[in-house]
Amino acid sequence: MEGLKIIIIGAGIGGLTAGIALQQAGYQVQVYERVQELRPVGAGISLWSNGVKVLNCLGLGEAIANIGGRMNVMEYRTAQGELLNHIPLQPLIAQVGQRPYPVARRDLQEMLLTGYGGEIKLGHDCIGVEEDEGGVTAIFANGERDRGDLVVAADGIRSVLRPYVTGKPSALNYAGYVNWNGLVPVSPELAPADCWVIYVGQHQRASLMPVGGDRFYFFFDVPLPAGTPPEPEQYQEQLRGYFQGWAQPVQNLIERLDPQQVARPEIHDLSPLDSYVRGRVALLGDAAHTTCPDLGQGGCQAIEDAWVLTHYLKSTNLSVMDALERYNRERRERGNSIVRKARKRAEQIHGKDPEVTRQWYEQLGREAPQSVTNAIADVILGGPLH
Ligand code: FAD
Repeated sequence: MEGLKIIIIGAGIGGLTAGIALQQAGYQVQVYERVQELRPVGAGISLWSNGVKVLNCLGLGEAIANIGGRMNVMEYRTAQGELLNHIPLQPLIAQVGQRPYPVARRDLQEMLLTGYGGEIKLGHDCIGVEEDEGGVTAIFANGERDRGDLVVAADGIRSVLRPYVTGKPSALNYAGYVNWNGLVPVSPELAPADCWVIYVGQHQRASLMPVGGDRFYFFFDVPLPAGTPPEPEQYQEQLRGYFQGWAQPVQNLIERLDPQQVARPEIHDLSPLDSYVRGRVALLGDAAHTTCPDLGQGGCQAIEDAWVLTHYLKSTNLSVMDALERYNRERRERGNSIVRKARKRAEQIHGKDPEVTRQWYEQLGREAPQSVTNAIADVILGGPLH
């Protein structure tokens, strides 16, 4: 189809990637964003090869390689630091045809903003949509309206447009744990500069992953009841308590982090949706499939969504609704399967059934490295660009 006007709600990873892809396809794109100033939430993100392949196709291959960390090895260690598994990543890279890139979120956002280059109307809080025979109108809290051929709802985990698409309110599911994340300078007292290390024990994790600019993206996971207050001035003391007796690099990390720069989300996901599309409105990214971060795939799925949506709009010419339905069929299957898989993984890691987690710790010690990389490759190769 040609000559479409496309309205995108939300300028996160999903909305910006969709903006780039749809603009490159020749469409007129307008992005609206609720906040007055764009700031990424969270410190880092691992972009697995399925997401990177889409960025390559959008002409961002060099840019992502420039901001990405060189991660050559993955290591699992016990809480006390004993090596459980040393997993070279070259076989994975060879299998899937592309290196993954862990990145700082701020760098990723800047890269996507530069790649998009179009106007983003900030301070525009979308409160609803109205469809008519020939188009759809996005309605904003400030009284503005904009009519186009379709609306891409890339408005994130608490999507305002999701209930319009699904016909019912959606409840987020608390995954049972809290995640602290941030950035620290690379140092051998933390981990080797090309290594993604994950310490596991007591249903908790502490992890460091290299991103560009000689920094590690780090995170800590601790199962806690929902609603515990975030108090930056207490983060280090709390982490010292939760990770008491853990290996020296974990203690070093706690001492070196800057609590004022640490994000601390309680982790939620969303049960799989029956549909990502209604009429001329398509959910994209977390709006469609908020997933536990335990596979590192939420952002990658948003990027895949953007690619597939653009593909169907470009390659078919029956109607907008028909193209969106094709998008729906393909992405619903992929997105929902990632949500289920990530939830299962989150439960395994964080002790929903302590016996399952104990078995996982045991398995980590005897699993062939190739079987770990095969499992990651399966997820990657399930994407639209094999
Ligand atoms: P968002 O990034 O949430 O963007 C939505 C945008 O819409 C926001 O800018 C918001 O302000 C705007 N908005 C919301 N409502 C409105 C409205 N009504 N009107 C206008 N604008 C609106 N993914 C990975 O691929 N790899 C990882 O390693 C990874 N790690 C993660 C670690 C953690 C701790 C967490 C929490 C998530 C992780 N993810 C990871 C997931 C990833 O962060 C998300 O999947 C991704 O950010 C989703 O992008 P999005 O564009 O759909 O939503």
